[in-house]
Amino acid sequence: MEQRKKIIISIDGWSSCGKSTLAKQLAKELDYVYIDSGAMYRAITLFFLRNHIDWTKQKAVDDALKNIVLEFVYNAKSKQSEIHLNEENVEYVIRDLVIAEKVSDVAAIKAVREFAVAQQQLMGKKKAIVMDGRDIGTVVFPKAALKIFMTADNSVRVERRFKELFEKNPNITLEEVRNNLEMRDYIDSHREISPLRKADDAIVLDNSNLTMKQQFDIALKWAKEKISD
Ligand code: C5P
Repeated sequence: MEQRKKIIISIDGWSSCGKSTLAKQLAKELDYVYIDSGAMYRAITLFFLRNHIDWTKQKAVDDALKNIVLEFVYNAKSKQSEIHLNEENVEYVIRDLVIAEKVSDVAAIKAVREFAVAQQQLMGKKKAIVMDGRDIGTVVFPKAALKIFMTADNSVRVERRFKELFEKNPNITLEEVRNNLEMRDYIDSHREISPLRKADDAIVLDNSNLTMKQQFDIALKWAKEKISD
């Protein structure tokens, strides 16, 4: 059988641009592994909150990280890999707004990023991976063969995230969601370590006016071009 070249695909961009939807579709089509790097920062934040870790103190952070084991485990029912924190499936609890409100502060901590990035780089050793996040094309895999930087109009992103969260919590308001997205984007793009930015060699994909199918077709074409390069 013909051996296809395996590549790394990084998808970075602003919050709620549809990065994970696209990453999952690409991974499925190419038979690649999908890794949601944001889930790792969310799971670390969950651990810190549950254990009342004062993350402004370096020693507290270093000690806490020693007690955190993160794993992506395939769930045959949901047909996706889900994040486990110390053997507990936390894929759904980490999507809560309580986590979203703190995750960008936690993700700005040097020790936290070193902890997560080392694991992400190991996962990419065999290539054939699609990883989405904020620093994948710039820091985690600076040599990724295909780098996509996703963006969409603010109003489109707020509306999308609101719909998602409203299904689980009908008390949530559009204002809360907008504030959270703006706050995270601001912190993520202004932090000192690995701020969110487009890698020089990333291709911009603005999906404000694209359907899911259209954005998938565009990205798949780019991926196939890189694979057959
Ligand atoms: O992708 P998601 O919105 O779930 O990510 C949650 C948060 O995790 C982001 O707002 C950002 O603060 C952080 N993050 C990061 N670097 C990544 C992925 C996520 O700093 N590679």
